[in-house]
Order: sequence, then structure tokens, then C-alpha cells
Amino acid sequence: MSQTESPIPAARPVPKPWIEAIHAYVPGKAKGDDGRVLIKLSANENPLGTSEAALAARQGAVAPSLYPDPDSTALRAALGARHGIAPERIIMGTGSGELLNCAAAAFAGPGDEVLYVRYGFSLYDIVARRCGAEPVMAPDADYGTDIEALLAAVNDRTRVVFLANPNNPTGTYLTKSELARLHRALPRDVLLVIDQAYAEYVAPEDDDGALELAAEHSNVLVTRTFSKAYGLAGERVGWGTGDSALVEILNRIRGPFNLSNSAQATALAAVGDEAFVERSRTHNREERARFVDAIEALGNHGLRAVPSEANFVLVLFEGALSAEAAYAGLAERGYIVRWLPGQGLPQALRITIGLREHMDAIAAALAEMVETAG
Ligand SMILES: *Cc1c(COP(=O)(O)O)cnc(C)c1O
Repeated sequence: MSQTESPIPAARPVPKPWIEAIHAYVPGKAKGDDGRVLIKLSANENPLGTSEAALAARQGAVAPSLYPDPDSTALRAALGARHGIAPERIIMGTGSGELLNCAAAAFAGPGDEVLYVRYGFSLYDIVARRCGAEPVMAPDADYGTDIEALLAAVNDRTRVVFLANPNNPTGTYLTKSELARLHRALPRDVLLVIDQAYAEYVAPEDDDGALELAAEHSNVLVTRTFSKAYGLAGERVGWGTGDSALVEILNRIRGPFNLSNSAQATALAAVGDEAFVERSRTHNREERARFVDAIEALGNHGLRAVPSEANFVLVLFEGALSAEAAYAGLAERGYIVRWLPGQGLPQALRITIGLREHMDAIAAALAEMVETAG
């Protein structure tokens, strides 16, 4: 007989079984196993830092003794103007993570399924279990999203599909026509959450059309974040958009004062500094291309870069040098990247695109390590 069915009361509060099944989110580390502070290329943060204008605005934020604007009115207006979206269709979140949680909680529960791809964002598992739903992973196609496999995994218990585009930790990307095809084939009562955390890194001409899908259909939520290209991971600001009924439902369950005074002031100024985002995109495009070239030059040693549209590259180690050994070797040299055995990727490192000198040092270190690995 399980504890919950026992006539004898438990000696302590009993967590719900679906909560007990959760493994806490593992964030990218900043220190080596020996406690040394390393150059952090493990969390996809912006190596250029934060817009100067945003930093200045942070100093002038409303006093911390006062509650923030519960509706982040000025920030939603600025985002609406920037993206051509009515502010009523925009919801803010304490990071986009809050909105991913709200989306699952609003539409899925015990007995339901939440679907995403293998090698999808690790938070989706937690978000699904948190509301009692069952997380389901569809098989990938060489680390990328396999639309047919994803659709084949949809059944009448599927309530929410999460898709990060570009995806984390793979960096892979569905084009506008592929995304439209996925959406078209989904039942209308299944919510498609398109997590665009890395959208600002995608060239404008390669836009995936997610914002249009969210404007035109009642079953699409797009989420974005200030944590990556805007360089504001520490302020915890994300936003989402969908049709007004969807946004209204999610607004009922988000935290009432979910963006602090400083988060609202800083993000508002960041929206006004498009030049900073543009510089970040340009830096990323150039350094990612150089880094991928350097990895490809080591192809004869079994290194492979999964094609990336994001601010990181998933490097596969399919030769004598293992990802684990490379991870340790990079840490010895002062760099921490992301090794993901817990996500079924013991053969890979996810490396954030950092400053040029650091990418050059990492490429040189890998070249050195493959030689000694044989
Ligand atoms: C980094 C990231 C986010 C952003 O999370 P925040 O809560 O906004 O910091 C969301 N989705 C994916 C896929 C990410 O990689």
C-alpha cells in the first residue's frame, strides 16, 4: 500500500508523486570542480554584456520600497511598438521560464501529455511534470527536429507541444515553411509553444514566422527573452504573445508583480537600444562561423559541429577525444562549457559563442587535445 493510501498519517507532508519525480534544473556552471572561477561559456549569456543605456536606466528605476507596475505597461507598449503587436496580446514573465510554466499549467494536467523533441530544452520536462502531465519526447533526426516524428507522437492526450526555435542545446532550426507545416498538421486544440529565446540571433531574412502564427491562430504562444541577445539574464525578463484570449488566461496565473522595478526599467531601455542587439547578432554570426570552421578542421579527429542558428554550438566528439576529456581539458585551461550527459548527450559539449580571444583559445586547445588523444 502506498503512503498516500495508508490509514496511518504520514510523519511529514507528502509531495505529489509527479513533483517527487522532478530532477531540479541544472544551470550552467561558473566554476570548475576545484572551485576555480572559469571563463563561463556554459549558459549562453551575452559575451558583450549589457547595453549601456539599459545599465543607466537600471540606476534610475522606481524605488525598491514601492511595488512595481503589475502590468509592465510601458515595457509592453515598447515591445508592441517594436514588433507590431497590440500590447493586450503581450504578457510579461519572470524570464520566459515563467511563461513556459504558465502555458503548461493552463492547458495540461494529470492524464495529459506534453510533447517536445529529444534533445529539447531541459526545462520542458520540469514544466510538464510540475503540473502533473506526462512529458513525452519524440525522436530527433541527427540532433534536429523531425517534424514527422513529432507529429506521429501526437495523440488525443497531447495538450501542449514545446518547440525551441532555434533549439537548445542543439542550435538547430526549423524554417518558416517547416514551422508552418508543423502548425498546420497539429490539432487545433493543442497549444504549440514556440520558444524563441534565440530569435534575435537569427538573420531577419531567415525569420521563422512564429509571431505571425501567434497573431493568426488561437493555439500558438510565442515566448521570447531578454536573457540572451539583450544581455539581461540576471534581471529575469521574458515575454510572450498569442491571441488575446490565450494571453488573458495566462495572465490569471502568472505572478502578480512578476517583473521588478529594475527589471522593467532596464528592459525598457534595452528595447530602445536596437544597436546593441545588432552588434550582438553580428559578433555572434562572425565568431560562430570562425569557430565552426575551426571545429570542421578537426573533422578527421571525429569532431563535428551541429549546424547552429543560436549563440552556441553543439560540438560532437565521435573520435578518440571524448567530450568528457575535452570538458576537463578546457576547464584546466580556464574555460567552462556545458557537458550534457544528463540529457543523453555524453558525446557532446555545448559551447557558448564568447569573445574572439576565448573562441580562438578554445579552438586551439581542442586542436592540441585531439593530437594527444591519438
Ligand atoms: C535560455 C533559454 C530560455 C530563457 O529562459 P529565461 O527564463 O527567459 O531566462 C528559454 N528557452 C530556452 C530554449 C533557452 O535556452
